[in-house]
Amino acid sequence: MPVAATGTYDDSNIFARILRGEIPSKRVYEDQWAIAFHDINPQAPVHVLVIPRGAYISWADFSALAPDAEIAGFVRAVGAVARQLALEEPGYRLLANAGLDAHQEVPHLHVHLFGGRPLGPMLVR
Ligand code: 5GP
Repeated sequence: MPVAATGTYDDSNIFARILRGEIPSKRVYEDQWAIAFHDINPQAPVHVLVIPRGAYISWADFSALAPDAEIAGFVRAVGAVARQLALEEPGYRLLANAGLDAHQEVPHLHVHLFGGRPLGPMLVR
């Protein structure tokens, strides 16, 4: 069920629970600002989700409300994950769904990181 990108943060969402360690995940990276783990339903040979530790629903409230240090930390974490997974040379794709039209399902900001094969056109037409 897609969710709106605005509203009140729901502390019981699945990624909040992964952050708190209540639900297992295959973590590939963590630092002060972010954690990254394998998507449970991978759409590419590498499909990792990078999420901020802070409670943000989507790019909308993160970009509007997060302190600069947190935004910088998160963006750097996404880059670090791609580097750690050796994806810089072959290349990779980042995607962040926000809100209903994008079909965002989990109401905690996440960036999908895809790689491991040629990824084809950006969107299905
Ligand atoms: P969205 O559509 O919100 O951008 O993407 C949500 C993503 O979270 C989907 O790719 C889905 O497979 C993934 N996902 C949903 N529940 C879980 C879970 O419990 N664990 C992990 N690792 N990924 C999940």
